[in-house]
Amino acid sequence: MRECDVAVIGGGVLGAAVAYWMADLYDARICVVEGEGEVAAHASGRNTGVVHTPFYMDPDRRGAMAAAALASRGMWERFAARHGVPWAGVGTLEVAAEEREVAALERHMEWGARNGVPEGALRLLGPSEVSRMEPEVRCASALHCALDASTDYGALTRRLAGAAAGAGAELALGRRVASAGRRRGGIVLRLAGPGGVPAGELAAGLVVNCAGGSSLEVARMFGLAGRFSALHFRGEYWTADAAHSGLAGTNVYSVARFAGFPFLDPHWIRRADGRAEVGPNAVPVHAPHAYGRGLADVPAALSRAARAAASPGVLRLVANPEFLSLVCAELASSVSKAAMVGRVRRFMPRVEPGFFSGRGTAGIRTPVISPDGRFVHDAMELEGLEGDSFHIVNYNSPGATGAPAYAAMAVKKMRERGMLDGLAGRLRARPRGAEPGWDYGEASGALPGA
Ligand SMILES: Cc1cc2nc3c(=O)[nH]c(=O)nc-3n(C[C@H](O)[C@H](O)[C@H](O)COP(=O)(O)OP(=O)(O)OC[C@H]3O[C@@H](n4cnc5c(N)ncnc54)[C@H](O)[C@@H]3O)c2cc1C
Repeated sequence: MRECDVAVIGGGVLGAAVAYWMADLYDARICVVEGEGEVAAHASGRNTGVVHTPFYMDPDRRGAMAAAALASRGMWERFAARHGVPWAGVGTLEVAAEEREVAALERHMEWGARNGVPEGALRLLGPSEVSRMEPEVRCASALHCALDASTDYGALTRRLAGAAAGAGAELALGRRVASAGRRRGGIVLRLAGPGGVPAGELAAGLVVNCAGGSSLEVARMFGLAGRFSALHFRGEYWTADAAHSGLAGTNVYSVARFAGFPFLDPHWIRRADGRAEVGPNAVPVHAPHAYGRGLADVPAALSRAARAAASPGVLRLVANPEFLSLVCAELASSVSKAAMVGRVRRFMPRVEPGFFSGRGTAGIRTPVISPDGRFVHDAMELEGLEGDSFHIVNYNSPGATGAPAYAAMAVKKMRERGMLDGLAGRLRARPRGAEPGWDYGEASGALPGA
């Protein structure tokens, strides 16, 4: 049986960042166990690519994610420049298509200030100012965020995993954690290779669960979070033909119709490589990797929801008429390009379905549902019963933006709880910080009150 000091489950952006900080701080055996043959195969390589400024995040409900996003922005920008990863400071317009939505923009200005967004980065614009900035956009008012940027998180994750390996972490790719148990007081992970073939065991002093869309399932292997459930929603995109990609130079979002749900409506996106897209929608699917399109998924998604309905949370959510209305709109926009584009036409009326002939890369978000039938808004951190596993669940958007600082804050919590005491003698005299040159103290202190 192989052994390591810390096993990080998941080679997405969060697992890569946790492994980087651990290897930077400790001269220890850190092993990233990733089920796929490469890192960033799922959400981290299949997202909108926006470097979000947390103006739209309620500081009372999503304070940790907001702080992490703000603190990570500069870290990513420097890292992207150093590695030649595309980065475009496109900015974002959040538009109130109708007068009744203007109050939401005012609230977002206030949330932005409370989340620490620098003064001057956010401005409320009237319709004529918006038209001067983006002639194709029609609205009652808009919030302009100059700080938002676009990048390629798949490329950043691959470089960060490389930096973690450079600092001494091992990447065990193509190894899925199938189950977890205890032996001689420690944790043993049973691994499976391609096709589910048993691929040995890994003993670890500490396990950090960064398994993205499967993180709740992994937490359950440790007897945690039994009353919570997870649902999977595929986000699909349509890519604008080159002739139409210049219709707007900024990202253009509308105020979310269902504030209680963790999705923005499909929007106009400027990718860092110059492409423009509309999306993502949020179509219920049965599994965290159900990228195939079409309604064939729906029966499987429903039957999964029915099974999950053993959890009263999902039953309550499914009985919520607002949720059902959202699901219907999302299904329509999956089947029909016109329906998807129609949602963007509310604020960009000249956009036509015919401007889009190719599908973009779909990604899957997996929000967690609480026992009382609500979407859980912030990420959840769970500590294993024996204090030797730490689980980050519900790590959704803007999780790619916030990963460097969020991972540093998580490592700090594990240290404060004594979960890394076994490695105390192996602290590096001075954290290397050579690559990517981030400062652990600064990043881990980003959470208010930290
Ligand atoms: C459609 C969409 C749009 C988004 N847009 C944005 C955006 O614009 N900006 C932003 O900041 N964020 C965005 N996000 C959110 C962001 O992408 C995620 O929060 C982030 O990528 C999550 O990273 P992760 O490492 O937790 O998960 P993942 O990237 O999913 O990584 C988890 C990894 O764990 C592995 N794994 C799972 N189970 C096991 C197991 N049992 N054994 C071994 N390995 C396992 C998986 O193979 C996977 O590689 C978006 C997400 C989606 C889906």
